[in-house]
Amino acid sequence: MSAELREQIAVGCRILAGAAQGDYVWGHLSARDPDGAGTWMKAAGYGFEEITADRTVLVDRDGRVLDGTERRHAEYPIHTEIMARRPDVNAVVHTHSRAAVALAATGRALEPVSHEGTFFTPPDVPRFTATGDLILTRELGARLAECLGDRPAVLMVNHGVAVAAKDIPTAVVATLLLDAACDMQLRVLAAGGAAHRSSDAEALSKREHCYGDALIDDAWRYLVRRLGTG
Ligand SMILES: [Zn+2]
Repeated sequence: MSAELREQIAVGCRILAGAAQGDYVWGHLSARDPDGAGTWMKAAGYGFEEITADRTVLVDRDGRVLDGTERRHAEYPIHTEIMARRPDVNAVVHTHSRAAVALAATGRALEPVSHEGTFFTPPDVPRFTATGDLILTRELGARLAECLGDRPAVLMVNHGVAVAAKDIPTAVVATLLLDAACDMQLRVLAAGGAAHRSSDAEALSKREHCYGDALIDDAWRYLVRRLGTG
């Protein structure tokens, strides 16, 4: 079963690469081991587009590599601590999305000015401000997980994003949606700010209509087909 999961991590990483979510070899995607053995993660030292099933590692909450032959990322606590706090979360993405970092630095809210924003707001996306430095300890990972709370994503101010979901397809698609939503908001701000935005009620309705489980699954299948692997 872990072989299937490792392959899905690899596919997810290559989709993230294709959507320009990579930052050289930084950024990661993880999934909870189905047998509770730990967290499978993209290995360190490779770009998203270079990830294969063999370039994933199983890590525990102390960062020990339990399986796999590659190195783990230093920021593994982002993944292990979010999964420890959120039993509903089976997949986590961390990227340095340029649009998200730029928007978070402005201190402005993410507004539902397009479809994508409605996946995340209302209420506004939480902001992690305890540090803009790397998440290298369990304690910092736990603080990030606390900031995320029960939400699908958190903006790590001056650093990146963490996106949490029930499975890899949802986590990957949500990461692309967050990047697009932040990019759209930056365009709106550059044009002088929003004169029109969805009300909370409309945004919540759009969330259901645009991004229900079946539609997220359709988007994932499309992204996999576009990779040429499905
Ligand atoms: Zn990072």
